[in-house]
Amino acid sequence: MPETLTTALLDALPFAILLVNRMEKVAWANPVARSMFGPDLPGRPFVTVLRQPSIGEALEAALAQGAPGQVRARLTAGGREIAALATVAPLPQDADLRMPEGGAMVVIEDVTAVEDAEAMRRDFVANVSHELRTPLTALMGFIETLRGAARDDPAARDRFLSIMEREAARMNRLVGDLLSLSRVEAEERRRPTAEVDLTAVLKGAVQTLQPAAEAQKVALIREGAEGRLPVQGDPDQLTQVFANLVENAIKYGGAGGEVRINVSRIAHEPVLRGAALKVEVIDRGEGIEEIHLPRLTERFYRVDTHRSREQGGTGLGLAIVKHIVARHRGRLKIESEKGKGSRFIVLLPAI
Ligand code: ADP
Repeated sequence: MPETLTTALLDALPFAILLVNRMEKVAWANPVARSMFGPDLPGRPFVTVLRQPSIGEALEAALAQGAPGQVRARLTAGGREIAALATVAPLPQDADLRMPEGGAMVVIEDVTAVEDAEAMRRDFVANVSHELRTPLTALMGFIETLRGAARDDPAARDRFLSIMEREAARMNRLVGDLLSLSRVEAEERRRPTAEVDLTAVLKGAVQTLQPAAEAQKVALIREGAEGRLPVQGDPDQLTQVFANLVENAIKYGGAGGEVRINVSRIAHEPVLRGAALKVEVIDRGEGIEEIHLPRLTERFYRVDTHRSREQGGTGLGLAIVKHIVARHRGRLKIESEKGKGSRFIVLLPAI
């Protein structure tokens, strides 16, 4: 293969590639390597470019014994720490004009995103197991008690059965939310195609939550733009978005006595680069401290876990909202001030 073609191929690959001669000096580096480790690589001793002992050892094995190798290492590249997969392959004499005596090729692949995804998956499984185990342990304990001590005590039996019902309902909600989340994630790239009237969606969500609001003595107030407000969407999913937000506003912000659902038309929304409909769910409750705001939409993230559980929360509501809004090519913004209340803003492209 002509030298220029080899170079062009190595230049085009999305990995950092370094050719290292027998003196352990960099003979050549592709553009990705230069952007990761600095512009002037040729001529530099390899150890001054990559200090990781494990990569150094793999390189020595390739040069001394002609043995290929692969190691994982954390290193700093382009000013940030990355998880790297380093592959080292020996190169024979005359394989490359720049290294007549032979050498080795070191390929560095940034696998940070893959490792992060693996860590997230592990955390998720651990969280789900933990969330399910708590009610399950309670249920098993009460079954045991009903078989034994409470067997002939009708009053205790009724009390335990109602706790068991609550715990079973919690598990049921959790499984329901997990299914919703996985369904929404699976179809996130497919934008819904139906035309939906946002006014009807909001009316439906408010109607569903009216009893919960009344029970907490919270007034639900729908205000702003009226009439037909068409968006491209999935009516069930959009209803779920606003039901979740209004339900949270009642649960966590209900102390303020009212929850407002304000709709407005925006002629040009810079974030969506076009006309938009804006729905704000506003409560006058206790608000959320700023440090929590960026993490609220993470699965199972709660400001107060105990309180959320007590209210029947699964910690998945806002994660579901975020994914549905993303599927609709919209945006979710959360503003809150401790002591004053919270504002959850959904922006959707208008048709
Ligand atoms: P949960 O099932 O716990 O309600 P969500 O994902 O819906 O889960 O919400 C995550 C957390 O965000 C809640 O546990 C709560 O701490 C906080 N939160 C959500 N909405 C509000 C609100 N309107 N006011 C204050 N805190 C809120």
